[in-house]
Amino acid sequence: MPCSATLNQLVEILLAQPVNLSTAALAQLGSGIQTDTRILKPGEVFVALRGEKFDGHEFVAAAIAKGAIAAIVDFEYENPGLPVLQVKNTLEAYQKIARWWRDRFKIPVIGVTGSVGKTTTKELIAAVLATQGRVHKTYGNYNNEIGVPKTLLELSPEHDFAVIEMAMRGKGQIAELTQIANPTIGVITNVGTAHIELLGSETAIAEAKCELLAQMPQNSVAILNQDNSLLMSTAAKVWQGKVITYGLSGGDISGKVVDNQTLTVGDMQLPLPLPGRHNATNFLAALAVAQVVGIDWASLQTGVKVDMPTGRSQRFALPNDIVILDETYNAAPEAMLAALQLLADTPGKRKIAVLGAMKELGERSPQLHQRVGETVQKLQLDGLLVLVDGTDAEAIAKSAPGIPSECFATHAELVARLKTFVQAGDRLLFKAAHSVGLDQVVNQLRAEF
Ligand code: ATP
Ligand code: MG
Repeated sequence: MPCSATLNQLVEILLAQPVNLSTAALAQLGSGIQTDTRILKPGEVFVALRGEKFDGHEFVAAAIAKGAIAAIVDFEYENPGLPVLQVKNTLEAYQKIARWWRDRFKIPVIGVTGSVGKTTTKELIAAVLATQGRVHKTYGNYNNEIGVPKTLLELSPEHDFAVIEMAMRGKGQIAELTQIANPTIGVITNVGTAHIELLGSETAIAEAKCELLAQMPQNSVAILNQDNSLLMSTAAKVWQGKVITYGLSGGDISGKVVDNQTLTVGDMQLPLPLPGRHNATNFLAALAVAQVVGIDWASLQTGVKVDMPTGRSQRFALPNDIVILDETYNAAPEAMLAALQLLADTPGKRKIAVLGAMKELGERSPQLHQRVGETVQKLQLDGLLVLVDGTDAEAIAKSAPGIPSECFATHAELVARLKTFVQAGDRLLFKAAHSVGLDQVVNQLRAEF
């Protein structure tokens, strides 16, 4: 059962002002905390959040009509006589309830942050933990100031572990999420250039990720990617507690990828749950978590099954041994380079990169696009098709002069060309910022081949 609290408990936790609630009504036990009236169930408590598009305060009457026992509203709400708990800020109230509820569970809570690989690492950790117990994890990408409390509020006594993804778009946000989730284990996958437009520098990004360490309890364990030197040096400044490092270049848990499908760690051979060196690194983080909670790696030798959300580490086989590597979910610069390496490491006849722009990179954008082209060149891929949309994507093609490359202005032109271009045995990597819409190109190809 998700978060259950009496209204009296909520008054106490939130220092809230009850209105139109009798003593008997205040003794009622809520059966959950809900912010969306469309899925609200009778007996739950509705929290009215003010968002950019919607204001939950407009739905309070609907929530009560649907059976909510009370609504949590702010002092600006003009109450037509409904049972409410008034607070200064409803989002803060939502987060406070989540923290209160989380603290009722004496289970390992694993917080995962980093520039790229959060969802993948969360899924790998969850898959490893699921071999030993019941895991509660962030659903999809509910990783922000609303998603993290939402996830925690769904913790229930049946769970043995919780894995919580934490994302940021600015300074201070990971600190806030850490205070809500109160993790016993903190994992930082890496520090890169994603969202650099918002934070200004890689150092600022590293500091923002390391807020996880600065805010978690001293007896928690930090699990850090040793391959990332900026992460390691920044972490050392803010964290004096226990650390387990992992990486392909060294660390307490150091692994080697063999034949693109096996990870060797010490004298243990483990099948890689997901393809690519970057995913081997993510898996090492999961092995570190396993070690902390006392799971014997030998139990993972039969394989760990991971269901990845769309556009990440997905493979589609087309007729004539043509394989699509669908990485279209998004493209941070580090993710782009990791995906190109994955393509290069994938056995096949020709290796073709179908790329588009990366976004939110500010003034570093031209240089970072150039680096993608240079990597295509260095890896000696067999072809490069670029969807240019008026941004810096063209710089990718221009920086790979030795690689046969073509640019396209529209999805339709790219799809038409792919139909004549693709040959039996090809391996095609699709990757760009989500807004470029390469996922639509993948869908069309899959439908028409
Ligand atoms: P978001 O910020 O959107 O939540 P995320 O951090 O959760 O992203 P994932 O969704 O796990 O990241 O992965 C996004 C992309 O990053 C993947 O498609 C993959 O190409 C790449 N990626 C995943 N792990 C790594 C890694 N360790 N290093 C580099 N790239 C990675
Ligand atoms: Mg994610």
